Amino acid sequence: MIKVAKFGGSSVADATQFAKVRNIIQADHDRRFIVVSACGKSHDEDHKVTDLLYLCHAHLKYGVSYESLMKMVEEKYRMIHQQLQLRLDIDKEFSSIRKLMDKNIDLDYLVSRGEYLCAKMMADYLDAEFIDAKDLLAFDYDGSLNYAKVKAKLNEHLGKGKRLVIPGFYGSFPNDKIHLMSRGGSDVTGAIIANVLDADIYENFTDVPGIMIADPRIVKDPKVIKRITYNELREMSYMGANVLHEEAIFPVKSKHIPIHILNTNDPKANGTLIVENCDELDKNDDPYPITGITGRQNFSVINIVKSHSSNEVGVLAKALSIVSKYNVSVESVPSGIDSFSIVMDTSKVEHCIYEMMVELKNELALDSVSLSENISMVAVVGRKMKDAKGFSGKLFAQLGSNDINIRLISQTADEINIIVGVMNKDFAKTINCIYEKFIGA
Ligand code: ASP
Repeated sequence: MIKVAKFGGSSVADATQFAKVRNIIQADHDRRFIVVSACGKSHDEDHKVTDLLYLCHAHLKYGVSYESLMKMVEEKYRMIHQQLQLRLDIDKEFSSIRKLMDKNIDLDYLVSRGEYLCAKMMADYLDAEFIDAKDLLAFDYDGSLNYAKVKAKLNEHLGKGKRLVIPGFYGSFPNDKIHLMSRGGSDVTGAIIANVLDADIYENFTDVPGIMIADPRIVKDPKVIKRITYNELREMSYMGANVLHEEAIFPVKSKHIPIHILNTNDPKANGTLIVENCDELDKNDDPYPITGITGRQNFSVINIVKSHSSNEVGVLAKALSIVSKYNVSVESVPSGIDSFSIVMDTSKVEHCIYEMMVELKNELALDSVSLSENISMVAVVGRKMKDAKGFSGKLFAQLGSNDINIRLISQTADEINIIVGVMNKDFAKTINCIYEKFIGA
């Protein structure tokens, strides 16, 4: 079996966490491909190395002393190095980084050192082979990954019998320049490696028990989702749930490789399994009526009324093309007979919303155009909703009986989610009511 195991920042935050990672890896011979993040926080007041390195770069750029920041980074790595009695020449590593530290230092190079050093230390600790992601993850200049090159490079390292440790979060362009991914990108590195190896499973170790049915900051002690489809997860992440980098799904989904979200601090717990299709597993273990509840606050909604627009061709298309001129993406377009609404993220549209409304009114000769603000969109996601008759009735009744006014409703034809728009003030209450109704205590 081929398993790719990725360990996030908190899983490699200090020597104790390194030891847990080693136990997890050694407990399973199939865990041969290891991806690590940079060291994260080991306690609440601590800092993530990646954040410190970004700050170092800003200080260098503006000529402000970065010494105290770099010291924090060094201390973290040196402490792990010393406590685990590693052989890696850490002085040499830091002196070669420091030699380049002037105002022209490349941001991607500097920030990537967090993952680079962490992976070097982990390889040393596991007696595994280190592969620099710069020599493995080959990006084209447009930022797309050249999978064929990655595969060819990785093949050069197979068959030596050693485990491989790869730093996450970066790769390089054809000119060898380091290319950093977006924040949380080590998840994507793990998914890419799983894809290239045709892995049987991609294990993603974090510091939470799995993906929760609802945000624990909103619902007290929510249950963990046992399994979820890629599509459901995509809906959940788009609407705000954040456990895995959004882009980590595509490389594994295309090869039907399951992702298993696991907890480094409790590796025997079930975690959350993310798969293409849950039908077989659901047969033996009936899931809850819904898979998850998530949502985002602060949407602006333009409400448009135009008599007879339902019989007129192209009104909606015209309205959306006006919105697209402002380079704003539309979240949803719930519609009635002679009216429809355009839902947009307030932070993306606040600078131009009035201008947009005037243009819509004039260009489309509308009867009226109005604005609703402070709207939250709450998404109820679940594969089981598709066949559950009367589900939306129960959902709306639950909100109604809890005095929550539903401002808009949207559902796609695949029926894996229902989105309700409520006022921001009702956001947490809405999520809690839905949880209570469909999951229970
Ligand atoms: N260290 C990077 C970050 O903090 C990448 C990662 O952890 O995946 O975003």
